[in-house]
Amino acid sequence: MHTNSTPHAYSTLEENIARAIEKKMEVIAITNHGPALPDSPHWWNLKNMAVIPRTVENLNILRGVEANIVDEAGNIDLNNSIYKVMDIIMAGFHRVENYKDIDNQGKNTNVLINLMKMQYVDIITHPGNPQYPIDIEKIVSIAKEYNIALEINNASFYLTRRGSAPNCEEIVRLCKKNGNIISLGSDAHISYEIGNFSYVEEILEKYDFPKDKILNSSKEILFKFLKERKMQKPTIFSHKH
Ligand SMILES: [Zn+2]
Ligand SMILES: [Zn+2]
Repeated sequence: MHTNSTPHAYSTLEENIARAIEKKMEVIAITNHGPALPDSPHWWNLKNMAVIPRTVENLNILRGVEANIVDEAGNIDLNNSIYKVMDIIMAGFHRVENYKDIDNQGKNTNVLINLMKMQYVDIITHPGNPQYPIDIEKIVSIAKEYNIALEINNASFYLTRRGSAPNCEEIVRLCKKNGNIISLGSDAHISYEIGNFSYVEEILEKYDFPKDKILNSSKEILFKFLKERKMQKPTIFSHKH
């Protein structure tokens, strides 16, 4: 979820937390946009997430970010002081200045593969976005190999990234066949959307997707995954912009 530290999102962190507690959620991940977008929090905001409590009542709060892919090498817009405080790092394609020729499927696929190989990122966000076409089969296979989750983003079905539905369905189908882990994203930009996976759930039901491969199914599954990921991640973020 995003908070209003991202200027195009509308709820404060405390409003989001209150809503999550009201919905009896066990875990939320705050994942504001990385600094490369024109409408992102300043990187100090991300670095300073260390002040956010780990729990409020029974709710676990993960410090995270939705980073941007900034170039053709698959680099993302973090620095080491942001990287160090993050419990969970997501990244995906967004409109950033230096990433052009966005409808080149071969290029997008290679960029995501490079990104996954660097192992900084736990989850690839909205890989079903048709504006950035990818070779889905290849990405599903590499994601499995590197233990990186692919996100199925609920907002892609009714709000943004039009035309995502068939790709998301294909990702779900192949992830089931291949035994991949997926992550459900509400992509909430306002507290009312927190934990809303209504569209995604329909597809998961259609493909009878196994619960133990969905990060959002339980706290145990999520925390086990994050623990494994921590072992796989480099301890420092070495790319310099
Ligand atoms: Zn946003
Ligand atoms: Zn996004």
